[in-house]
Amino acid sequence: MTRFAKERRVIVWEEPVFGPPERTPRLDSNVCAESGVVVLTPVLPDGSPGEDHEAMIRGLLDTVLATVEGDIIRWYYTPMMLPFSRHIEAVCTVYDCMDELANFKFAPPELTLLERELMSIADVVFTGGYSLWEAKRDRHPNIHPFPSSVDRGHFAKARVLRGEPDDQAGLPWPRLGFYGVVDERMDLALLAALADARPDWSLVILGPVVKINPDDLPKRANIHYLGGKDYEELPRYLAGWDVALMPFAINESTRFISPTKTPEYLAGGRPVVSTPIVDVARHYGDLEAVKIAATAEEFVAACDQALALSRVRGDWLKAVDNALAALSWDETFGRMNLEIARAIAKRDPAAAVDRGATILPSPVIRPSSHKKPFDYLIVGAGFAGSVLAERLTSQLGKRVMLVDRRMHIGGNAYDEKDAAGVLMHRYGPHIFHTNSDEVAAYLSQFTRWRPYEHRVLGCLRGGLHVPIPINRTTLNTLYGLDLQSDEAAEAYLKSRAEPVEKIRTSEDVVVSAVGRELYETFFQGYTRKQWGMDPSELDKSVTARVPTRTNTDDRYFTDKFQNMPAEGYTRMFENMLDQAGVTVEVGVDFEDVRDEADYDRLIFTGPIDEYFDFRYGKLPYRSLAFRHETLDQEWFQPVGTVNYPDEAVPYTRISEYKHMTGQSARKTTVTYEYPQAEGDPYYPVPRPENQALYKRYEALALETQGVQFVGRLATYRYYNMDQVVGQALATFRRIAEREGRAVIAAQAAGRAVAAD
Ligand code: FAD
Ligand code: UDP
Repeated sequence: MTRFAKERRVIVWEEPVFGPPERTPRLDSNVCAESGVVVLTPVLPDGSPGEDHEAMIRGLLDTVLATVEGDIIRWYYTPMMLPFSRHIEAVCTVYDCMDELANFKFAPPELTLLERELMSIADVVFTGGYSLWEAKRDRHPNIHPFPSSVDRGHFAKARVLRGEPDDQAGLPWPRLGFYGVVDERMDLALLAALADARPDWSLVILGPVVKINPDDLPKRANIHYLGGKDYEELPRYLAGWDVALMPFAINESTRFISPTKTPEYLAGGRPVVSTPIVDVARHYGDLEAVKIAATAEEFVAACDQALALSRVRGDWLKAVDNALAALSWDETFGRMNLEIARAIAKRDPAAAVDRGATILPSPVIRPSSHKKPFDYLIVGAGFAGSVLAERLTSQLGKRVMLVDRRMHIGGNAYDEKDAAGVLMHRYGPHIFHTNSDEVAAYLSQFTRWRPYEHRVLGCLRGGLHVPIPINRTTLNTLYGLDLQSDEAAEAYLKSRAEPVEKIRTSEDVVVSAVGRELYETFFQGYTRKQWGMDPSELDKSVTARVPTRTNTDDRYFTDKFQNMPAEGYTRMFENMLDQAGVTVEVGVDFEDVRDEADYDRLIFTGPIDEYFDFRYGKLPYRSLAFRHETLDQEWFQPVGTVNYPDEAVPYTRISEYKHMTGQSARKTTVTYEYPQAEGDPYYPVPRPENQALYKRYEALALETQGVQFVGRLATYRYYNMDQVVGQALATFRRIAEREGRAVIAAQAAGRAVAAD
């Protein structure tokens, strides 16, 4: 704000406070001497009726606005300010979205609706970090991530300051500290576990306790709650710590945070130990100074390592300083200012020049091809949408508009090179396998292949690694057996299996094949994590995906065609969509073009319930959060995926892409998968009642003229990639037949090539 105040007059409008009951509403005003920023706080009469507050605040705001000359830019940090300010005429409306506020404790119910309104009127949206941007980017066409920057000079004082604040001076060493608001985002159990594990460490907690009951805070002789401190005082406290902590709970309220304290702690020269907050791992996880630890045990061990690091001011600190050198508030200001200038110019180019607003590079406006007549509008550029776009154009000469609300093609199979140049999958590991000659031949027109057979190990409690699916090696290793033949293994499993009269659920499938103990070891915990429910509540088809073997075959799949696209999935999609008749637009939601575009028929590959505005209620989809990490080592684990069936481990599996892609690189990239209820829909949840609900939507779909539903989300089927391709090819055949056109079968045979 200070930087903006150099160019414009800045008024900050605060939340109301309450004053004497008998007085009329008034404004408290504070002016920052350095920047000229004016901070106005509405003071409302205490005891006045709640329903009058909005009108009172609007009245106060209008009196201020009457004194303002020139154009107004509205800048919202929260949609809750919209009700009394939506009438303001502004040249630009900025929504600076700092967090997923709706996930916060006591979030007002109207927040979601107001945010939707704000999204619809904002000219430009900024998000406080990449995770938040990822979550919101489909909601606005002009949205930009701004991870926290840092006032390096201010916090660097912690490296040299001597003389401690009184309330910290007497605490024993070593000291591990946290500053920030203490609320539902903090993992209190973790804090207690840390204090208990290391009673000789002092844990220093600075910050106000908000929204949670102070009585719920863990009380220990070595945890010291010193209360809230001013920004100015923080470096002096930080100076007295060995290690800085971020013991955040991993839950809805922390999913999108991008804590400013990470770079602050680092600028202060302190190693940091954090739980796996996505943006912390993403931006700082590569630094030796930042340890990410998920469980209490890992957290303690990481603190040990961080303490060891804090004793030597070595290369780790140089690496920190290099990383921080790229961050500056000036840079953030420059980029935000530019986006605002562009947004003003987009609305009213002449006015922007007249006003001499910041130098204007030509605004980036996507050329709109929506107006052209198309035969088909296809929504979703994953396998379902892309196969159909390719077929309809190349075989039937149709004109197709293909849109996706994400900023890329490929749907969930999208892959890209990360900052370290490692080819990785943004939405978790995708391994291609099929028994369908037709599907393999079809895709082979657009890619060469690299042979790859996926192998998975289960990491059991205690660290033992055994093959999954369960095979003879698994049994021999787990139980110290020496089963030498299929027959011996079969007899062994039979002796453990529990007969189940009618196999209905995912529990029945496994228990009837291998018995309860192996079921609990490999399936129960994993499934509970993955699906948020017990296997006994899930259809049998879910765990039936994973077979049981009596031989020593340790491949995850046994399909006859097991290959990865040699140059990645995205390249394959690019080749597929390189057709004269296809127009692709990414970052475009169906809603944006639904009425605007000119098309005869629609193919929809998004969630079917969303298409029908959730008319019969929401279809449950399970989601995931991905934590991608690039490690400064050549390999991380012996196989492509290691599963963690133990329910106490928060993630289900870790996958390492270089095994799959065959890429050789000095660094390696891995992905942790954390299942969750909210977020992008990834998995339909196979249960009879969900299927029944889907059937109602399907019936609606059949009645709806001119629209077809294809793909995993649109037909609510737990399909693999090859099955979606097969489904799309079948859909295409039906379309061609309807038009009386013969279909030429894809000719090219699958050709596997050796890795480069
Ligand atoms: P998607 O890939 O989901 O594509 C749908 C697209 O539609 C999305 O890009 C979405 O942004 C877009 N969209 C939705 N609604 C709208 C809208 N209103 N406006 C604009 N765009 C919209 N399969 C395998 O065969 N092997 C594997 O190893 C494998 N691993 C997987 C791992 C994970 C973690 C997940 C989640 C899935 C995995 N799959 C795997 C399954 C595979 O991802 C799917 O079968 C396949 O991607 C489905 O393709 P689709 O086109 O139906 O849907
Ligand atoms: N599963 C399990 N333990 C494992 C692997 C799988 O319990 O080690 C169960 C779990 O319910 C999982 C299902 O089997 O969701 C299907 O596994 P698959 O690997 O096919 O899942 P996907 O790759 O689709 O996530």
